[in-house]
Amino acid sequence: NTFAEIDLGDALNQNIQRCKYVKPTPVQRHAIPIVVAGRDLMACAQTGSGKTAAFCFPIISGILKSRPPPRQRGSRTAYPVALILSPTRELSVQIHEEARKFSYQTGVRVVVAYGGAPIHQQLRLRELERGVEILVATPGRLMDLLERARVSLQMIRYLALDEADRMLDMGFEPQIRKIVEQMDMPPRGVRQTMLFSATFPKEIQRLASDFLADYIFLAV
Ligand code: AMP
Repeated sequence: NTFAEIDLGDALNQNIQRCKYVKPTPVQRHAIPIVVAGRDLMACAQTGSGKTAAFCFPIISGILKSRPPPRQRGSRTAYPVALILSPTRELSVQIHEEARKFSYQTGVRVVVAYGGAPIHQQLRLRELERGVEILVATPGRLMDLLERARVSLQMIRYLALDEADRMLDMGFEPQIRKIVEQMDMPPRGVRQTMLFSATFPKEIQRLASDFLADYIFLAV
């Protein structure tokens, strides 16, 4: 019933304490151990349930336990190991803030990318060039970065789709499928996928069976 009981590692546990998260919420209590154990996850969870930490904590913990080699200097292409897709700029910004708070003093680099003003895009590109481990993005903006070879999904080990039902409502399914296809191209490493959605209609069930492998279903 505490975060310390889940083996997330010292650095992340310290940040959890610093941020005064004392008790895991129900979705966190169930989802985090599933992902830490290496399984794919389909979770039905509402806004306000603490779902952001439920997918951020296992990602940060996993990266800290097995750090990928540093990226090549001078490359204009960024190779994130974790990708979090979210439907809107507002939600992406919130996820980015949460991921950064809990990556504090770990050296894990978190970058957010969403459509918007050109000046912000320039700043993002410079940030991406400095290297990124966790990329938070909206599907349209990520497609653009992929087409311009600013981002490669070759190294992705963790994929989280947040508010998947909303992303489908907004018409992002073709982009999401193209993004996941890129991750499935060889050399395809081991990838863990987490799908979060408030509702579980036919379309989400189809995404789950297409994107997840041998997954655990969680409804809170
Ligand atoms: P979310 O559903 O991820 O948007 O989280 C809703 C709010 O609850 C956010 O403001 C979080 O910072 C906060 N929160 C999430 N998990 C916890 C926790 N275990 N303890 C205290 N606050 C939390």
